[in-house]
Amino acid sequence: MAENVRKKSSRRRFLKTTAIAGAGSAAGAVAVNAVSPYVLPEERRVFEPNHSYWARALPPVNPPLQQDLEAEVAVIGGGFAGLSTAYYLRKDGAIKGRVVLLEAERCGNGASGRNGAMILTSTADRYMQLSGTPELDKRIYDLTAENIREFKELSATLRMDTEIEQNGALQVCNAKEDVEKARDYVERARAANFPCEFWEKEKVVEALGTQAYEGACFDPNSGQVHPGKLVGLFKAATESVGVEIFEQTQVLHVHEGERLALTTRNGRTVRARSVVLATNAYSSKLGFLRRAATPVFDYVRITAPLSDAELSALGWKSRLPSARPCPITAETWVPISRRRSSSIGRPPMRCLSVNPSRNSMAMKATPPNLPPWPPR
Ligand SMILES: Cc1cc2nc3c(=O)[nH]c(=O)nc-3n(C[C@H](O)[C@H](O)[C@H](O)COP(=O)(O)OP(=O)(O)OC[C@H]3O[C@@H](n4cnc5c(N)ncnc54)[C@H](O)[C@@H]3O)c2cc1C
Repeated sequence: MAENVRKKSSRRRFLKTTAIAGAGSAAGAVAVNAVSPYVLPEERRVFEPNHSYWARALPPVNPPLQQDLEAEVAVIGGGFAGLSTAYYLRKDGAIKGRVVLLEAERCGNGASGRNGAMILTSTADRYMQLSGTPELDKRIYDLTAENIREFKELSATLRMDTEIEQNGALQVCNAKEDVEKARDYVERARAANFPCEFWEKEKVVEALGTQAYEGACFDPNSGQVHPGKLVGLFKAATESVGVEIFEQTQVLHVHEGERLALTTRNGRTVRARSVVLATNAYSSKLGFLRRAATPVFDYVRITAPLSDAELSALGWKSRLPSARPCPITAETWVPISRRRSSSIGRPPMRCLSVNPSRNSMAMKATPPNLPPWPPR
């Protein structure tokens, strides 16, 4: 009996000690998590500078936030999503109060200033494929085609060249098996009033100068743009409607409550009624979407400006951007013709961005097993 009580009491003691230790560890972990941004050094590569080719055309950097302030809406992140959200919130007076945008580094430091420069219609999950609701697909397609036209209008209104071209794009078929799928897609898409076309191999060879592809889907509303200049356009447009943009102002915490409070790395506080999280692949650093985002490595390479002779040797007469699916990474080539970029000289072929990062959609400096150029 005494033995039994001793056993029970020691089990109870063990459970109690374990529970206290567990609660202590959990509380410790919460505390460490809360104070770590203040006591541990920032992971250096989180906001690594954008050294891409496009970054040379990014707009000058605004000063950081120097005082606490109150706003109606605070937008975190100065990529395409943050800038355009801030712009449309203020444009036409949708929000009358103060709208501020806080950017950790500089506008366009993230994916918006280091991408493949293609402006494609529709959304990624519906691009060149129909869902169960083709009417909705078509509405989304029309909206995105209209967006591209609006970029052009905005460029003209603000007199800022973004090198935008809306001459269409090709989704190419890598293998003969893909051709039937592409034909089938085009047939169904045309029945739903999409303006796409299926291009036979001969027409693709004529447009791209390569025998590599077996056919392609052509979308007339897609095109290409200079991403760095597009960031500049969005930034100018956003400021023109009265949004205040503070750069080199990293938000460390979003404190939720009736009025949200954002604390910045340099110790300032912004209080706002609403906050827009436009932080893309960096959102987990603020504690959001930790389990919803997966970093994707994507390579973009850019050629030196091409002479007329080189362009003609390539046979890429159409200048149409073309995308091809690839099992592990997507790859994009950005040819620059001499006429469009004579001022930049002839840099060697390079990646758009260096330093892979676990935290962002970033690109590798020397991707392995590069395919030959031009594609054969
Ligand atoms: C290699 C590559 C190629 C691509 N090619 C194409 C293409 O050809 N066509 C196309 O349409 N799309 C392309 N994309 C996708 C496209 O670039 C992105 O979808 C788009 O730029 C995302 O914009 P964003 O504003 O959401 O994010 P981002 O441009 O990443 O902007 C997020 C911003 O938030 C800031 N930020 C993050 N956290 C904080 C914080 N705590 N405080 C303050 N600021 C913060 C960051 O510094 C960053 O500037 C490509 C992407 C990559 C990576």
